[in-house]
Amino acid sequence: MEGIVTVVILLLLNLSVIVILNEMIQTNPGLQDGIFIIKRSVFIGPAHYQLWSWENIFIALMIVFDVGVVYWRLIRRYHQMQLRHIIGELHYIANGHFDHRIPFTLKGDTQRVVTSVNSLVDSVISSIEEERRIEKSKDELITNVSHDLRTPLTSIIGYLGLVEDRQYHSEEELLKYTNTAFNKAKQMKSLVDDLFEYTKMRQTDTPLTIAHLDLTQMMAQLAASFELEANEKGMTLVTDVGDEPIHIEADAEKLGRVFNNLIGNALKYGGDGKHIYLRAKQLSDREVAVSVENDGSKIPEAALGQVFERFYRVEESRSKATGGTGLGLAIAQSIVSLHGGYIYVTSDDDLTRFVIHLPIKNGDRLKRPDVKN
Ligand code: ADP
Repeated sequence: MEGIVTVVILLLLNLSVIVILNEMIQTNPGLQDGIFIIKRSVFIGPAHYQLWSWENIFIALMIVFDVGVVYWRLIRRYHQMQLRHIIGELHYIANGHFDHRIPFTLKGDTQRVVTSVNSLVDSVISSIEEERRIEKSKDELITNVSHDLRTPLTSIIGYLGLVEDRQYHSEEELLKYTNTAFNKAKQMKSLVDDLFEYTKMRQTDTPLTIAHLDLTQMMAQLAASFELEANEKGMTLVTDVGDEPIHIEADAEKLGRVFNNLIGNALKYGGDGKHIYLRAKQLSDREVAVSVENDGSKIPEAALGQVFERFYRVEESRSKATGGTGLGLAIAQSIVSLHGGYIYVTSDDDLTRFVIHLPIKNGDRLKRPDVKN
């Protein structure tokens, strides 16, 4: 429609220009002579064609001009329509159809707009999903914490209530009640401490106190500090670190916490085995691997992928009176990741191995290969 209107307007315009020019030439003899001289002196091509009448030339020029104007108008209108289409699609997406993307492919800049809009929608959707995931995980955290705090708290209130109502028959019984309440209170404290540590370590900007430390020496110290406890359980700690020192830049206290947790777990959950191995090895000029291994009963295949999740405890460990919070490995994983490394677990009938890879230089980050857990 717009094309037709444009053509009509242009034709009228052409006609009026021709009429005005014609009028000017007819009433001006000087102009007529000038045109005549030009026509006689200009030849076109090898056959020496003379110029046509000025009207023909003018009409030819007008046609070229008109076609140009119509083409330009139509292209502009076409772009406007594309834009209107894109805006329509945007409204559709904004009305909640977040899985919809602008489906058509266009040319040039407009296609760039479409691609940018589609990737913008993609990133908005993924941040909304991430937000939802975080929100859900916070809710789960609160549910888990309240559940884990309520159980010991109920016992504490129960036992202290008995003491308050003087429902004990001997001093020994009184001591038993207060002792149970005390132990439950300690259990609550360790949960709150772990929780505090967990939330602190989850923040990616948690500062590390970096120092040069020798892993060989660290393993020897850890082995010495757990030796007594291991012997009491009939287990032997074996260090396999080589003779050379293995220097890395790391936060000694936080890494210590990781190894303490892993060795503590090996003692707690690997009690039916006989050995705990502490191994450290330099893999390259930028990477070391440290592992804590034990030959106790294996972690079930189905649980392997979840042991690093907060509050996760393998079913068997729940029923045993090991008194864990299920946060130890989640904290260990966060600390290792703050150091730019990664941790994974493997478990079979022979060994359960917790393996940590760390960069030698502070600030370096290791890429985790595709390991299962
Ligand atoms: P917690 O020890 O407080 O329960 P962790 O996060 O340290 O929490 O461990 C999670 C679970 O992983 C434990 O409950 C236990 O079931 C399992 N686990 C950890 N280490 C070992 C191990 N060396 N052998 C067998 N099971 C283990």
